[in-house]
Amino acid sequence: MKKTQFSLNKYTNHSGTLIKKYKNIFGQYVFVLRENDSKVYVNVGKALFDFYNINDRITVGKIGRRLINIRPGEYFHKKRISSCKNCRNIELRKAWSSSDDYREFISYLKELVNENNFELTEATCSFDKIINADGWASDIITHVICCKKCGQTFRCHADTYHGIGGFDAENQVK
Ligand SMILES: [Zn+2]
Repeated sequence: MKKTQFSLNKYTNHSGTLIKKYKNIFGQYVFVLRENDSKVYVNVGKALFDFYNINDRITVGKIGRRLINIRPGEYFHKKRISSCKNCRNIELRKAWSSSDDYREFISYLKELVNENNFELTEATCSFDKIINADGWASDIITHVICCKKCGQTFRCHADTYHGIGGFDAENQVK
């Protein structure tokens, strides 16, 4: 399971406030984040460009200007308050303690989806590809599930190269 992908050495995470967004002369959509006293530039897709607004707090993982992942709010886990019976007791994670821990958690997500109370809305690979496979499908693995009762989405993330990740609620779409 040796990883030699050079570019991922340049992977960085930034939490900040979206202070500016624009389409540049090459037609690329750009977000400018203020993180402490510095500015962070990242290229995003059109959908994300439209989705996030000035003054939103977001966290991005990127290599150079290339966006690898994006999530609302701070990088670290925040307690979620929900009144929805279906999803309020869902287990959240700040980190993975081991690869087995992550695999087990993916089994848990698979159960949630199979039990039919949650829908898998985004995935970089299938659950089984993680549960049954020896290596990793990719360096960055993402699964998003959506509560079928209230629409709350939850993002599961693993950066297998850096060994980080977690599972948390995303901000509700207003
Ligand atoms: Zn719910």
